[in-house]
Amino acid sequence: MKSAIIFKNVKKTYASLQAVDGISLNIPEGEFFGLLGPNGAGKSTMINMLAGLVKPTSGSISVMGYDVQASYQEARHSVGIVPQELVFDPFFNVREMLRFQAGYFGKGKENDSWIDEVIDRLDLREKAHTNMRKLSGGMKRRALIAQALVHRPPVIVLDEPTAGVDVELRQRLWSFIKELNKEGHTIVLTTHYLEEAEALCNSVAMMRSGKIVAADTTKNLLKKFASKNLKLRLDLKSNKTLPADIKRIQHEAIGQDYIFQLKKITDIAKITESLGKAKIDILDLQAVDIDLENVFLKLTGK
Ligand code: ADP
Repeated sequence: MKSAIIFKNVKKTYASLQAVDGISLNIPEGEFFGLLGPNGAGKSTMINMLAGLVKPTSGSISVMGYDVQASYQEARHSVGIVPQELVFDPFFNVREMLRFQAGYFGKGKENDSWIDEVIDRLDLREKAHTNMRKLSGGMKRRALIAQALVHRPPVIVLDEPTAGVDVELRQRLWSFIKELNKEGHTIVLTTHYLEEAEALCNSVAMMRSGKIVAADTTKNLLKKFASKNLKLRLDLKSNKTLPADIKRIQHEAIGQDYIFQLKKITDIAKITESLGKAKIDILDLQAVDIDLENVFLKLTGK
């Protein structure tokens, strides 16, 4: 399979801080890829290097076969980036801004029908002649997404695109991005919403302190960390504690809820029997499956 993005042993140092610490990544064409990690992990630095905005201290990066340093223009033309911050030129209306951006990438009038389509798909038509300055936050976000797509880049990078975005726009945005992915665009997403990454991304890399701590298909990651959990709501009066034999089973307590990590299904019988003997009532019982959020917490310790 052809690669859309390759990072080869990439490092970025700021003074004594190793923001990105020797990362190698290969993202195949057509992937829906999630770059996850807590604040300060190095995600933005990765994306800024991919966009050619920040120069790696060492290592190399290529996009669609173009080296980001040696073939900056071709590499830059291959990527559309939806930035985290709402940065825009206050003098243009939405359509002018999109035309201008298309021109920057060498696209002329022939691209207008695509601009119309992007405007429609992001439901910006009513605002097409409104000055960027006068748009609401959500509308500005839509316009910036349109701006990233205007030159039909094969690779689309979305840096926390749904932070502070209402549910309706979030859903509209995701159905549009999913379609673009089906049409063959490679998507890279950074997000804090693990649920979103789990629902959308075929594969993910989890970063911590400039390093990748896990990289795999979303399915494999979930499988690798899969454990059956049993959540019990217990009526533990102040004078009672968990019986010693089940205290030894890995668990965490949140208020009245106790989540046990089961090694074998027969642990269930052991737990309920032991609670019965100790006359501890089970108020509620639930099986919980591990999700990407749990995997992330385990790996990043955040
Ligand atoms: P993330 O996007 O995962 O939150 P960043 O890539 O923004 O992480 O930051 C990674 C680390 O690099 C952080 O410790 C951050 O403070 C530091 N950093 C980022 N940009 C700069 C810069 N221009 N100068 C100095 N340190 C920086």
